[in-house]
Amino acid sequence: MQKIAVFCGASIGFNNKYKDDAERVGAYFAQQNIGLVYGGGKIGMMGTLADELLKHGGEVIGIIPHLLVHEEVVHSDLSQLIKTKTMSKRKVKISKLVDGYIALAGGFGTLDEIFEALTLGQLGIENKPIGLLNTAGFFDPLLAQLDVMVKEGFLKQVNKDMVLVSDTIDDLINQMTNYKAPKISKVVNTTVK
Ligand code: AMP
Repeated sequence: MQKIAVFCGASIGFNNKYKDDAERVGAYFAQQNIGLVYGGGKIGMMGTLADELLKHGGEVIGIIPHLLVHEEVVHSDLSQLIKTKTMSKRKVKISKLVDGYIALAGGFGTLDEIFEALTLGQLGIENKPIGLLNTAGFFDPLLAQLDVMVKEGFLKQVNKDMVLVSDTIDDLINQMTNYKAPKISKVVNTTVK
């Protein structure tokens, strides 16, 4: 995998374990020569991740919509900073550049971005691997909610299985490398029967 989009918090969280994992991911990407594509911020988990990668000589591409370009938040030392007109154009640009997606701990923005990637996968518009780095069980309640959706007939098990999960970055990348997208018979057929 050459480039991966990582979505993660513009906040750093209350517990150092999240920051530690952002640093581990940054060092790992640099060591494995994986380019990072991310939101372009210098704050929170995003900033920690980008800084760690840059510190180890890695490639970091930030993609940020004009409305978020403020000196306090935008990272000024990236390999490349691409500005887009809108949030949705940013997502399109990110998807054109990457071979897969990962979410680390974050909030609404992180969930929005990773679920958009999952929706594209469910519709067969993309077939890229999507992983959650499940630091200290951060995503366990979310995964439990996905099980409720399957049980109640709103999500196909095969689509839930698109979500790759691990608590270590090397295992997650390994799963992503070996990922096979579910077969979609018709682009529109996502209905649970
Ligand atoms: P959140 O999870 O709500 O903290 O939002 C973080 C996600 O939304 C990141 O993956 C970014 O792509 C995007 N995002 C939110 N705030 C910013 C910001 N100030 N600068 C750049 N990207 C941001």
